[in-house]
Amino acid sequence: MDLNRRQFFKVLTGLTALALTSKQGFSYKGKFATLIDLTKCDGCKDESIPRCVKACREENKHRFPEPKKPIMPYWPRKTYEDWSDKRDKIDTLTPYNWLFIQKVEIDGQQIYIPRRCMHCDTPPCVKGCPFGALSQQPEGNTVIDHSICFGGAKCRDVCPWHIPQRQAGVGIYLKLMPKFAGGGVMYKCDLCDARIKRGEEPACVVACRERLREKAVYKFGPREEIYAEARKRIKEEGLYLYGDTQNGGTATLYLSAIPFEKIEAKLKEMKARFQMPLKVRNIYKEEINPFGKMILSAGVLGALTGIAGAVLEKKENEEEVK
Ligand code: SF4
Ligand code: SF4
Ligand code: SF4
Repeated sequence: MDLNRRQFFKVLTGLTALALTSKQGFSYKGKFATLIDLTKCDGCKDESIPRCVKACREENKHRFPEPKKPIMPYWPRKTYEDWSDKRDKIDTLTPYNWLFIQKVEIDGQQIYIPRRCMHCDTPPCVKGCPFGALSQQPEGNTVIDHSICFGGAKCRDVCPWHIPQRQAGVGIYLKLMPKFAGGGVMYKCDLCDARIKRGEEPACVVACRERLREKAVYKFGPREEIYAEARKRIKEEGLYLYGDTQNGGTATLYLSAIPFEKIEAKLKEMKARFQMPLKVRNIYKEEINPFGKMILSAGVLGALTGIAGAVLEKKENEEEVK
């Protein structure tokens, strides 16, 4: 009898997980968050490409840049950023790879960290962009409007994790000031904005669950619920939390059995391209604006926006669509 009950619950759990792997719809309106449980991620060692990374690339490939070549550097720079010949690169963030699995070995233990935009509560990238190309959505995610991004990379400069990645030879700067401004278009995870707006979970979240079922690494849901679950688990399981205080709070929480101080120290030692600093000040929350002098005057900005709007009207839907 006892065995039967156990079997019954096993089947029930399996069926629940199966139901969850299908394209789930939700009607919740409000801010979302993602919980990323590092105790569960094995980096998809048995796969040629991690499932979540593959799903992200598949979901977003229609928005990947198609640069016009030859690419010209713009004044006064002598170089430009071109990832178009490295589209297959999956071990770092690029304009063609908005999520990657960072590998860190600590005390003989391998840790796999899915890295993507943190979707900050007070996003410096949104406030720092002089062209207003970034916005924070009602769902709490930050999105780059590729059609008005000049690729000046201010968003990356002010991002504590340097997440947005630039591709040259594409974007509105080519039409307006090809030799004097911008330098491409910036790309990053937008939390699958289109999907969550139509009530579907992000592609990476679904893909991981298809593989790991109830042991999935990602959990996506209403922000309050995700925060509550993370806090409960650190209390009950003695885990460590990252993302709740950094940069004034974010919509991406990491849980780890290893203290984040150790992870931060290891990433520093490795000189990793993407770090996980524990102390992250939010310059805008503290009302210090380092770009005060650099932001274009309202007049210039207005004129540029007007020109951009006119060009965009003609070129609508042509931009960066394969
Ligand atoms: S998060 Fe999930 S899908 Fe992604 S690498 Fe880890 S186990 Fe694989
Ligand atoms: S992580 Fe960086 S790119 Fe993402 S919202 Fe925060 S500041 Fe912006
Ligand atoms: S939320 Fe969407 S865009 Fe962001 S990493 Fe996941 S699949 Fe990619």
